Amino acid sequence: MTLAGFVPLSLCDYPGRVASVLFTQGCNFRCPWCHNPHLVPAEPPDGTASCDAEAVADALASRRTRVDSVVVTGGEPTLHAGLPALLRRLRALGLHIKLDTNGSRPTVLRALFAERLLDYVAMDVKAPWARYAALTGTPACDIAALRASVALIAGSGVAHQFRTTRVDPLLSGSDYAAIRLQIPDGSQHVWQAFRPDACLNPALCAARSGSDSVRV
Ligand code: SF4
Repeated sequence: MTLAGFVPLSLCDYPGRVASVLFTQGCNFRCPWCHNPHLVPAEPPDGTASCDAEAVADALASRRTRVDSVVVTGGEPTLHAGLPALLRRLRALGLHIKLDTNGSRPTVLRALFAERLLDYVAMDVKAPWARYAALTGTPACDIAALRASVALIAGSGVAHQFRTTRVDPLLSGSDYAAIRLQIPDGSQHVWQAFRPDACLNPALCAARSGSDSVRV
């Protein structure tokens, strides 16, 4: 499996832990506010570096005494057939594993939970279900799959959070209220600030940023 990038040390991607971060290439959504637009195409843009997952795992093994956790993010990691094997490799190193996902592949999530390969899952809940396809630029967006992922994660017994980026130019107060109702009782929901310094739709970068992150 090829990775799009590797950050050896992060203090902010795995709550409460010092983690390395692995980035996968390719996403099946086209959120205009995506802060990692270079990770969205299936193939990396020209001139973008990539790295072999096995080489990254070897690097993590050598850092095992300094880093006890890893975050796999994207792009959308669950699109990759090699993800379970990669997570098994990381688990064999004794690492805590957090997965970031857009929730579009509940079948993959179910299999990863069944193998107990995940210690933390963060899923984006990006919009009211009725506006999801339009707002994420994904006409074929499978809402039933997203709802299944929300229920699966909430009932998994695994630490998790749902996240929403406040994109005030696109989402209104009633949208935020509707999103909040989509989060199961008992699950953490985190509002994230829109970061206008880089996004998939450059026109959106000029828009006013949302409020600072706040836990509710
Ligand atoms: S924000 Fe996430 S789900 Fe949306 S396009 Fe970017 S990587 Fe994909």
